[in-house]
Amino acid sequence: MKIVQIIIFAALTGGSFFFFLKKVREIYNNIMMGRKEEISSDSSFRWKQMLLVAFGQQKMFKRPVAALLHLVIYISFCITQIELLEIFIDGFTGSHRILYFGLFEGNFLGSLYTLVINMIEILSLLTFFVTLAFLYRRNLLKLPRFTKAELKGWPMRDANQILIFEILLIFFIFCMNGGDKALQIVGEHEQTGHFILSSIVGKALSGLPLGAIHFIERLGWWGHICMVFVFMNYLPYSKHLHIALAFPNTYFSRPEPKGEMKNMPNIQKEVASMFGGAQTEEGEEPMYFGAKDVTDLSWKNLLDAYTCTECGRCTAACPANLTGKKLSPRKIMMDTRDRMEDIAKGKKEHGPEFTDNKTLLGDYITKEELRACTTCNACVEECPVNISPLSIILELRRNLIMEQSDSPSEWNTIFSNLENNQAPWQFSPQDRLNWVAELND
Ligand code: SF4
Ligand code: SF4
Repeated sequence: MKIVQIIIFAALTGGSFFFFLKKVREIYNNIMMGRKEEISSDSSFRWKQMLLVAFGQQKMFKRPVAALLHLVIYISFCITQIELLEIFIDGFTGSHRILYFGLFEGNFLGSLYTLVINMIEILSLLTFFVTLAFLYRRNLLKLPRFTKAELKGWPMRDANQILIFEILLIFFIFCMNGGDKALQIVGEHEQTGHFILSSIVGKALSGLPLGAIHFIERLGWWGHICMVFVFMNYLPYSKHLHIALAFPNTYFSRPEPKGEMKNMPNIQKEVASMFGGAQTEEGEEPMYFGAKDVTDLSWKNLLDAYTCTECGRCTAACPANLTGKKLSPRKIMMDTRDRMEDIAKGKKEHGPEFTDNKTLLGDYITKEELRACTTCNACVEECPVNISPLSIILELRRNLIMEQSDSPSEWNTIFSNLENNQAPWQFSPQDRLNWVAELND
C-alpha cells in the first residue's frame, strides 16, 4: 500500500513540476522577446533593493493596516514551507512526520519541531481571518482601486480564486494535523508534542470511528499537497506570480533618480550625424524611435509587466486617473502582459512567423491613455515592487510622436518652436533679452 502511495506521489510531483517548468520557460522567453537594456546599478544597490523592497516589503508599509495583513500571509507562506518540505520527504520515503521522528530512529528535531508546527498553525489561523478580510475588502467594501474597469472579469476572479485556494490550504492543514492528533489520542500514531490548535481539532475528531479519522488525516495530507501543486501551476497564469518575480524585479531596479528621463541613444546618434559625427553604417538597422509593440520594449519593461500585482496603488495615486482621464498605469502593465501572452499563444498555435497585425500601441493601449500622462512619477513612487509604468508610457509616446508624427496640434506648435527658437514660445531667440532693454527705458 505504501509503495502505491509513493508511486502516486512521485507521479503527481513529476507531472506538476513538468508543467510548471514548461510555463516558466515560456514566460522567460516572453520576457526575452524584449530588446536589450543594460542596468547600470552595482550589486550592493541591487541586493539592498531586493532585501528591503521584496523581502522586507518596505514600500507596503506606506499603508500600515494592509501591510500588516499582507505580512501575516507572507510569513505564514514562508514558514509553511517547512511542513511542505516534510510532506515531500514523507511522500517520497513513505515515512511519517520525518522531521520529528527522523528517518531511522529517535526524535529528530524534538521540541523545535513542536514549536514550528505550533507557529504554522497559529499563523494559518491568522491567515484564515486575513483572507476573509481580503475577500470582504475586495468584494463588499468596494475600494475604488478594486472596482476599476480593468479589473472586471478574469483579474477579479483571479484575485478571489487565490484567496479561496488559501482557505482550502488552511482547511487541509487542520484536517492533516487534527486527524494526526486524533490518531495519537486513540493510540494509533506516536505522540509528536503538543500542538495547541490541532489538539483541539484532534480531541473533537477522536470520538469518530477509526476509519473516519484515518480518512480525515489522509484527506488533509493529500489535499494539502494537491493544493500546493494546483497553486504552483496556477501561479504563472496569475497576478500572484509576483510572489516569485518580485525578487528579480527589485534586484534589477534601475538606479537612476525617479524623474530622470533616459536619453535616447538613437537621437544622440542622429544629432551627432547631423553635425558630421557618427554616421549610420551600411547594413545597420535603420533608426527606430520608441516602442510600438512589446518587442520594442526592453526586457526590464516586460519583467515589470509579469511582476505587476494588480494592486492598483499606482492608479490610486495617478493624477490623470483621479481627474477622470482614461489612463490607468495598472492597465498599462496588464495590457503589456496580455500582449506578450497573445503573441506567445499565436506563435505556439501558428508557428514562429505568426503575426496578428496588432500592436500594443493602438490595439491595447490608446493614444488617449498615453497623452493623459503628466509624467509625474507618482505611479513609480507608489509601486510596492519597483515597477515603472511610466517607462512604458514614455516609450509608446515617443513612438507615437517620432515615428508616426501623431501628436495634438498644440504640441506640434511647441515642437516646432523648440526646433526653431530653442524654447517652447513663438519668439525669436534674438528677442530673448528685449525685456532687459525695456527695463532700461
Ligand atoms: S507618471 Fe503618468 S501614469 Fe504615472 S502617475 Fe503620473 S500621470 Fe499617472
Ligand atoms: S504597477 Fe505596481 S502599483 Fe501598479 S498595480 Fe502593478 S504592482 Fe501595483
